[in-house]
Amino acid sequence: MSATILSGKEFAEAIKREVAAEIAALSFKPCLAVVRVGEDPASAVYVGSKVRTAEELGIISEHRHMPAETTQAELMRVVNELNSRDDVDGILVQLPLPPQIDEREVLEAIDPEKDVDGFHPVNVGKLWQGQRSLVPCTPAGVIEILKRSGIGIAGMNAVVIGRSNIVGKPMAALLIKESATVTICHSKTSDLAAVASQADILVAAIGRAGFVRAEHIKPGATVIDVGINNVTSEDLARELFGEDEIDKRLNTIAKRGFTLVGDVCPKDAKAKAGAFTPVPGGVGLLTVAMLMKNTIEAAKARRG
Ligand code: NDP
Repeated sequence: MSATILSGKEFAEAIKREVAAEIAALSFKPCLAVVRVGEDPASAVYVGSKVRTAEELGIISEHRHMPAETTQAELMRVVNELNSRDDVDGILVQLPLPPQIDEREVLEAIDPEKDVDGFHPVNVGKLWQGQRSLVPCTPAGVIEILKRSGIGIAGMNAVVIGRSNIVGKPMAALLIKESATVTICHSKTSDLAAVASQADILVAAIGRAGFVRAEHIKPGATVIDVGINNVTSEDLARELFGEDEIDKRLNTIAKRGFTLVGDVCPKDAKAKAGAFTPVPGGVGLLTVAMLMKNTIEAAKARRG
């Protein structure tokens, strides 16, 4: 058996086309402000992709890049200024922030109506109460993949590995909203394989390359891989990738020093799952598309 690959590309493109069409029909252009502090290279790539995509779709984007030594007060001033501006519909403060910054204080300062990342406690509370809210982009993208692939969620056993505020917990809330029976696992879960292998839908959001192996996967399950990890070791790559992919991956390691791998062993998912999302090219592509969707939702809600 070889599992169906749930490629994120076509779903992300479809969502972006839908957002662009909605924007074209509006009498105003929504505006997304993205704040980046410091020089984290991954953040620079993510922010670049968010700003570029916004512009492609007709969203005005404002990129504020602040130095690594920015103080709490300086960052709070920028957030407050963006909160008070009528022309700004969405505010995103790219994480991680430098160590001198209290991340929670910053995220809680963002106007919940402009909180396009969906991390503000007001939006978190609304999500768990099943109310309409701005929902974190990555788990929202997972739901889109499942729905657009025609994978039924209601009544299914869903297991989420990971309980972070950014992915694991909102993922569980969204799956409950879709009427799945949900179990959340984490580093203290005993016999994780026994729990995970009961899942019809298994979501891995752990941050460990190729953690999910054959023993975690129920035959025919849908496996969603949220993880993004760099693998530098050729031996680990040989363990995770099958013959169809290993040469390409080893070449990438030789050229760039690493290859991107999710939290799921792709060789095992291919052999045992019914469907799975690849890394790269899966969930990650949906995250930016869902940010655009949240920006337009925020703009419509604010400006009627
Ligand atoms: P966190 O580090 O915040 O959370 C990881 C979770 O995994 C924790 O709940 C932790 O448990 C759990 N975990 C760690 N080790 C184990 C283990 N051995 N067994 C069981 N559970 C374990 O990560 P995030 O949620 O922020 O991200 C998860 C992954 O998703 C990362 O690879 C990240 O890069 C990726 N990501 C991808 C995005 C995308 O757009 N595709 C967006 C955001 C994240 P505990 O709570 O007990 O410590």
